[in-house]
Amino acid sequence: MLILADAVLEAPAKLHRPGRLRIKGETILEVGSHLQATPGEEVLDFSGLTITPGFINLHAHLDLSSLHGSLIPGKTFADWLRQIIPILPGLTPEVRRHSIIHSSRKASHSGTTSVLSITSDLSTLAGLNSTSTRVWWALEFMDLHGNPSPSQNLDRATAWLSRHPATSWHLALSPHAPYTSSPTLYQELGRLASEHHLPFTTHLGESKEETDLLFGNTGPLHPLLPPELKREDFCGNTSSVDWCRRHHSLPSHPILAHLNELKNSDVDYLAEIQATIVHCPSTHQWFNRPSFQLNLLRAKQIPVCLGTDSPACSPNLHLDLREEVRLFRQNNPKITHHEVWEMITSSPARALRIENKLGTLQTGSWADWAGWRIPPDQDPIESILESHGPAEASCVAGRVNRHDFI
Ligand SMILES: [Zn+2]
Repeated sequence: MLILADAVLEAPAKLHRPGRLRIKGETILEVGSHLQATPGEEVLDFSGLTITPGFINLHAHLDLSSLHGSLIPGKTFADWLRQIIPILPGLTPEVRRHSIIHSSRKASHSGTTSVLSITSDLSTLAGLNSTSTRVWWALEFMDLHGNPSPSQNLDRATAWLSRHPATSWHLALSPHAPYTSSPTLYQELGRLASEHHLPFTTHLGESKEETDLLFGNTGPLHPLLPPELKREDFCGNTSSVDWCRRHHSLPSHPILAHLNELKNSDVDYLAEIQATIVHCPSTHQWFNRPSFQLNLLRAKQIPVCLGTDSPACSPNLHLDLREEVRLFRQNNPKITHHEVWEMITSSPARALRIENKLGTLQTGSWADWAGWRIPPDQDPIESILESHGPAEASCVAGRVNRHDFI
């Protein structure tokens, strides 16, 4: 199949104008300006559009968008947990599936083609047949009430995935957070992730309350945990990262969501284990958190990507990464559009360890792209990141979708 467009942004420094993409199945065969259709080849005309790599959202909860507007912002993290804990059991698999379908469609309209989505309820996935974006279902585990059997659940999810060969779905593993998942559970999930070559992600250092709990088994999180819980590791850790280091909780290349609580002494270890941090600016603002310590991470070349988190703690209902980009640049004005573009394309692809497949439109990569109508005389990256309107088309694994709007 040959795609014709005004321009194709293969990579930030490689713009083809006019742009041509040759796709076979899910893969890009050729990219350039002068490709001609071969006899009998299907041609799709996207004149007027600029085609770019789709965005990658490294932290979302696709199944929670029905909670938009249900929780009060600006509260402490413990207060937020107190609000959400009673609501979650009411979210049936049907409601969660509806959220997944709706959220992935909206995300694709704003240029996102891949989402790493935390999945706490495996039964939600049964009955789901497709999503508008590629998804890594990050199976979430906690062991507050006994062993959650990660190995059996991974087997079930793998079997489920094999029954949906036509989808662009993948698996990942995720202990929820240090206050709900013991070092033993972290280690088991780390082992499974390494053995099966799956991404490993977790919520880490999200709040001061977490730091207090890990240091002295005190603070506002403590009364939310089961009274019979025995956690001898809640003692003497100077930070969440310190807890990970002391208890060997993380495998190499972990994807760490939030890390709002970070100490100078943490960064050497994060660099050593090649961690990637996912910052969620809207959620950060929702909780009125102190400044995200971008410079401390950048000084050690620790990659930082952007995520949306969920509408349960963010006004970003449609998981639009451009909103996160704009808020992030407002708080960090020295970061250029081109730098932040990498934080939602090539950098998350590297964190997922498939940088030759995603975040780029080079030969051999997956045909995952978005098509934008932007002025031809402007820098496409700046123009797209500052745009508010929808992408007019998207493509995931070679399946092209023209977005239909009235
Ligand atoms: Zn989250």
